[in-house]
Amino acid sequence: MIFLKSDDEIELLRESNLIVAKTLAELAKMIQPGVTTLQLDKRAEEFIRDNGGIPGFLGYGGFPGSICTSVNEQVVHGIPSKDVVLKEGDIISVDCGVLKNGFHGDSAYTFCVGEVAPNTIQLLRTTKESLYKGIEQAVEGKRIGDISATIQEYCEKEGFSVVREMVGHGVGRNLHESPEVPNYGRKGNGLLLKSGMTLAIEPMINLGTRKIVFEKDGWTTRTYDRSPSAHFEHSVAIRQGKADVLSSFKYVEEVLGEREF
Ligand code: MG
Ligand code: MG
Repeated sequence: MIFLKSDDEIELLRESNLIVAKTLAELAKMIQPGVTTLQLDKRAEEFIRDNGGIPGFLGYGGFPGSICTSVNEQVVHGIPSKDVVLKEGDIISVDCGVLKNGFHGDSAYTFCVGEVAPNTIQLLRTTKESLYKGIEQAVEGKRIGDISATIQEYCEKEGFSVVREMVGHGVGRNLHESPEVPNYGRKGNGLLLKSGMTLAIEPMINLGTRKIVFEKDGWTTRTYDRSPSAHFEHSVAIRQGKADVLSSFKYVEEVLGEREF
């Protein structure tokens, strides 16, 4: 079942997503060689609670962290750990969820740790750009497949591959709602988009094979060939026919400045 949101509900989603955006910016200040993903997790939880939110991922299906931290070949759902120490040349996807006023914010950004290999930088740029190209399709009258195919075509044209097993989703009072939003598909296919839908669009794009492996910890996914994987996510409402991006990378980009890839 798809829950259409009123304008008031969309504003509550925007409020939750604003905390997500500012949390990601707090973490952007910390990300450097020597930092553990558990330190990032602790700071995220503290910042979210200080801002009147609840970490949306903590305890979700038993997930032990407040954020997902997925390093290098990890695709998504990496568990924060004191044993994962960031090092020069790594990339790290931080996926953050915040529950406030009964609504979930959800957004993710992939950061560089120091100097990163040029082909990996290109992967990050392409994945982020594909997210915005997908968002352009999130308008009334288009279909889910228009979002999916646009992301897929853009990333594959650049020589990268699209993860199939993990997809975007509706978002609202529940972290994951219908419909699914795959990052691959065919134009003109799938559910018709209409105002009031709220979608988390989140391309997960690999440098090498699209194949992934589920790790034994029950959460982490990684690329089969251990090549790097990138992940960017925005929560988007379709409002008065148009895409209205509820999350934001503005705060992250202010922190990173020229350090952004
Ligand atoms: Mg997310
Ligand atoms: Mg999501």
